[in-house]
Amino acid sequence: MGNNTLIERDLAVLWHPCTQMKDHESLPIIPIKRGEGIWLEDFEGNRYIDAISSWWVNMFGHCNPRINKALTQQMETLEHVILAGFTHETIVELSERLVKLTPEGLNKTFFADNGSSAIEVALKMSFHYWVNSGNKKKTVFINLSNSYHGETIAALSVGDVALYKETYEPLLLKTITAPSPDCFNKEEGETDEDYSARMIEPMRDILEQHAEHCCAVIIEPLIQCAGNMRMYHPVYLKLLREACDEFNVHLIADEIAVGFGRTGTLFASEQAGITPDFMCLSKGLTGGYLPLSVVLTTDKVYDAFYDDYENLTAFLHSHSYTGNPIGCRAALATLDIFQQDNVIQANQLLIKHLSKVAEKFKDHAHVGDVRQHGMVVAIEMVKDKKSKTAYDWKERRGLRVYQYGLKNGVLLRPLGNVVYFMPPYVITEEEINLMAQVAFDGINLATRD
Ligand SMILES: *Cc1c(COP(=O)(O)O)cnc(C)c1O
Repeated sequence: MGNNTLIERDLAVLWHPCTQMKDHESLPIIPIKRGEGIWLEDFEGNRYIDAISSWWVNMFGHCNPRINKALTQQMETLEHVILAGFTHETIVELSERLVKLTPEGLNKTFFADNGSSAIEVALKMSFHYWVNSGNKKKTVFINLSNSYHGETIAALSVGDVALYKETYEPLLLKTITAPSPDCFNKEEGETDEDYSARMIEPMRDILEQHAEHCCAVIIEPLIQCAGNMRMYHPVYLKLLREACDEFNVHLIADEIAVGFGRTGTLFASEQAGITPDFMCLSKGLTGGYLPLSVVLTTDKVYDAFYDDYENLTAFLHSHSYTGNPIGCRAALATLDIFQQDNVIQANQLLIKHLSKVAEKFKDHAHVGDVRQHGMVVAIEMVKDKKSKTAYDWKERRGLRVYQYGLKNGVLLRPLGNVVYFMPPYVITEEEINLMAQVAFDGINLATRD
């Protein structure tokens, strides 16, 4: 079977995520036959480096033999069991390990099955905490401009990417938006640290005015991934933690994309030395194998729900597949690899190599910004380098890079005009060089007229 048969069958029945399906009249969909390590292979033997970890989920390569083995064993023991009234060894061990690995004070785990659902859990828990504590005035959330927290209605409400959100505006929760500390907007000569630090001021103004009615501030620590991989300095997180304490609102850290080593540390919050009141994890949690998410929170929050049943303070939220043992086993196998291979430390070499490679893009006439946090590098194509003027989105320059990449064996999936690398951690320096060269040539091609 070649690619074409499957493409035809696909388009006859499938509606793909985040896609204008009409695009596929001219842009062929790519059927993948198999994956191995950082490589994906189609039905005609073409191979692609998965430079975006299949939407940021893959950690240790496709069909990882160690994760495969753990999953086979799990499936032969227990595939699933209801988590209300029941438990299983895999989820208990996973919870113990997550509590140990995440910032001090996050002592309780609540599971769901995808990132957006974890956000819904955190939002509901925060609101409900205040209700249980006798405070019924707190009903709104504060977010950052350019943020992204998922696609379900409440998660979409606390995000700020117009492209995904605008159509649904009449359906959404009211949210108060503070300007992002996104360092793309810093003044010339200003350091990332200075800019991020001063951007706490508008947030503090909002808190001063609205804290009484606010449940929580929700943020993506260090990188606004879906918001074009915009980045900021950890100092903002530190100041935000202080402000949330001062104004008595929760801090929700959405580490769904940045967790598990993407920013160089296991969790991005570590770089600011903070403990959020809620931490949402998904994506890399299972190494890219299965949908699973978890919200970690404090004893203080947990205790506000802990009471006699008749008092009706319980968190009556559930998903059918909550705590699925196979997903939890994939997560444990992923954590084993982190530990056994000392991955966070080993990644420092890859991070160094990525910065070396990133240097090359800085002088490009149509690159306005090159930024990096750990294992994530983003290259922003601009029409005018000096003023950082963006290309018209309708020109779809990123799509040209995407197409060039596919022709040359690299799956890059630019966000608008931003080309980025977020590879699995099993990539080698030579493969990084190849990926970067294809991106560079693709950017040349996409910006030449
Ligand atoms: C992907 C993502 C989500 C949503 O997760 P899904 O599993 O796609 O629902 C939420 N927040 C951030 C920061 C994400 O990157």
